[in-house]
Amino acid sequence: MSSDPILKVEDVQVSFPVGGLGRRSAILGVAGVSFEVNRGETFALVGESGSGKTTLARAVNGLQEISAGAITFENQRIDELDRKAMKPVRKRMSMMFQDPVGSLSPRMTVGDLVTEPFRIHGIEGRNLREEADRLLTLVGLPTSFVSRFPHQLSGGQARRVGVARAIALDPALIIADEPTAGLDVSVQGEVLNLLNDLRERLGLAMVIITHNLHVVHHVADRTAVMYLGRFVEAGDTEQVFSAPQHPYTAALLSANPEPDPDKTHDRITLPAEVPSLLARPSGCEFHTRCPWAQSRCSVDAPERQVANGRAVACHFPLEPGARPPELAEKAAS
Ligand code: SF4
Repeated sequence: MSSDPILKVEDVQVSFPVGGLGRRSAILGVAGVSFEVNRGETFALVGESGSGKTTLARAVNGLQEISAGAITFENQRIDELDRKAMKPVRKRMSMMFQDPVGSLSPRMTVGDLVTEPFRIHGIEGRNLREEADRLLTLVGLPTSFVSRFPHQLSGGQARRVGVARAIALDPALIIADEPTAGLDVSVQGEVLNLLNDLRERLGLAMVIITHNLHVVHHVADRTAVMYLGRFVEAGDTEQVFSAPQHPYTAALLSANPEPDPDKTHDRITLPAEVPSLLARPSGCEFHTRCPWAQSRCSVDAPERQVANGRAVACHFPLEPGARPPELAEKAAS
């Protein structure tokens, strides 16, 4: 894998106006996020619903204006481009949206759907039937599917059609938003294997967005965990999974453990709801839910500590195998 970044996101913020007449203010949906994605690499953005990951992905793809920071793709600054200038960029950076069936137009055949990107971008001189056959074969669907309609597809097949659309124009980067949402566990694995296989065969870079950490365990090279629009932990996926350093990462992992009959899992229950972006907690913004919180945490915001390619924003990073104080006490009694 080359270490040449294809995508560079630097201190990006996305703000949304709130309030009525005379009381207008703004909330930060993405509050200063930086990361790079290398060619041929899969980078995962993980967090609960409302953590800002989809907003960040839309900002990268030019669908959401940023209020600060810079986004560079294939050595071109793209955050300042207008809609027209973004069009060629979207050929090289395609986006797979959530909801496999709902994102496909119900009146178009599979053949028309997978070749629609050629029409949208005014690419002529291609035999669209041949292109449809090529794309369906690449995503593991029979070419006879060209005449089917979306309602005749299973969730997994619809997702494969979405993947075929995403790779139609030979992109360098795919951003996949919840690529396995709504699919059975066995089908989730098939879709992830397909994405991984295409990444290798076509030399793609990929950003996968999901609320479920385990979706990315075996396909992402690096993983970043988002909370209230910030990265709280980022690093090599294997390291993040085997020894999470941020309590929020540990809680996400424990909430959805990988099936393993030889292991028992401590479930870390997070108290309280996700705070509103309108009222961000003081100090460490996770302190209202953190089982490890200490008095310093509510007044003092942690700096990002970076070591050996890992970054964590916590005053008291977890040691491997750490248990929340409540569970450790229970085990000792
Ligand atoms: Fe928890 Fe404190 Fe670390 Fe925040 S800084 S994650 S509250 S231990």
